[in-house]
Amino acid sequence: MSAPIVVAGASMAGLRAAEQLRAAGWDGPVTLVGDEPHMPYNRPPLSKEVLAGKAPFESLALRPRASVADAEWRLGTRVTAADLGRRTVELDDGTVLPYGGLVVATGMRPRRLHCPGPLAGRHTVRTLADARGLRDALTRPGVRVVVVGAGFIGCEVAATAVALGAAEVTVVDPLPLPMVVPLGELLAEALLRRHEQRGVRFALGTGVTAFEGDEHVTGVVLADGRVLSADVVVESVGSVANTEWLEGNGLDLTDGVLTDEHLRVGGRPDVVAVGDVARFPNARYDGVPRRVEHWSIPADTAKHAAGAIAAHLAGTEVALAPFAPLPTFWSDQHDFRVQSFGAPALGRDDVRVLEGDLDGDVLAGYHTGGRLVGVVALGGRAAAAAAARYRAELLKQPTLTA
Ligand SMILES: Cc1cc2nc3c(=O)[nH]c(=O)nc-3n(C[C@H](O)[C@H](O)[C@H](O)COP(=O)(O)OP(=O)(O)OC[C@H]3O[C@@H](n4cnc5c(N)ncnc54)[C@H](O)[C@@H]3O)c2cc1C
Repeated sequence: MSAPIVVAGASMAGLRAAEQLRAAGWDGPVTLVGDEPHMPYNRPPLSKEVLAGKAPFESLALRPRASVADAEWRLGTRVTAADLGRRTVELDDGTVLPYGGLVVATGMRPRRLHCPGPLAGRHTVRTLADARGLRDALTRPGVRVVVVGAGFIGCEVAATAVALGAAEVTVVDPLPLPMVVPLGELLAEALLRRHEQRGVRFALGTGVTAFEGDEHVTGVVLADGRVLSADVVVESVGSVANTEWLEGNGLDLTDGVLTDEHLRVGGRPDVVAVGDVARFPNARYDGVPRRVEHWSIPADTAKHAAGAIAAHLAGTEVALAPFAPLPTFWSDQHDFRVQSFGAPALGRDDVRVLEGDLDGDVLAGYHTGGRLVGVVALGGRAAAAAAARYRAELLKQPTLTA
């Protein structure tokens, strides 16, 4: 029997890769190794519906396709090392697994703040266990919440905390506006106004220097000297790639795993990376390798990478077009949605309102050299639908050169 394709990381990207390997014709063994004790589950509701108690934790489960019913799942097991020369991975139970192909799908973990002060009362949101712990903390009466980081997860958690009846919710960020990096100033200002109107306070342009409290956090000390009272702190200050297990193989692990235009790693046709951890060049844009933490990316990367590795293992190398996904992203906050198609961050210096107005439903276009590279809607269902109508136009745009 042929050596298995080992999928390191048994979450969304890992599951989609296993399914796409079957779709691409790989009928040999597939082994998924994941350090969480659960079968793959959906992460977006962890900061929204599930955190708010509007959907049960059980609703998160992703249902594997029948094609992977024969896959071997090694859950609660960590991959600790890989030897790409010998084609083996080592697990934390001491097993050394030989592989015929390797899929890197180990995703990200939350970055932590290394400031003085107690740890108790400080939360992150990445896993089921995180969301359970945070929900327990947020549902205590009269709770004062400080969210550190005004990115999409920070904004979502702040909105959910308000919905749960928190006494105070303050978002802190050294940047001047929430979500300003992906959205640019125009929409970030509109987002700020919407949050403030719904009860979220902001301390922007300043960072956190320390946490107050003996055993449990009671306050957050800001760089500008202010101290915010807090019973619950949520740290949403970015993420760190889970790539330590790949060290020693001469790979570029600067920010995730660097891949080529077919998601292959280190020039090896038998190793691919998928999902949040993959830093890939997108042929649709400037070809600069970037990681993309969007829900659409696990499925897109899995399809392309599985095609590449399955063809190699079958000895039928086919001329694949370079990977060129159209990134898609949404974020639900309060009673509105941020819906994005394309790469707005590349065009945030030239943002034009395409439809609506900034205080209601609005659709903005993001341009580079006069060319539309992304659209973002802010508002209700109609705004999100308007953004979706630009999908075809974004797909038709010629690629940008580096
Ligand atoms: C709270 C939250 C809300 C989100 N909301 C949205 C949203 O609204 N819209 C949107 O577009 N995107 C959203 N996202 C992003 C989206 O969920 C991610 O892009 C997606 O989950 C990435 O999947 P992944 O499988 O690549 O990585 P992960 O889901 O991180 O999976 C990696 C898996 O590998 C495991 N692992 C790590 N190291 C090892 C190891 N050494 N050995 C074995 N296993 C290992 C990890 O524990 C994990 O189970 C959200 C993400 C989070 C966390």
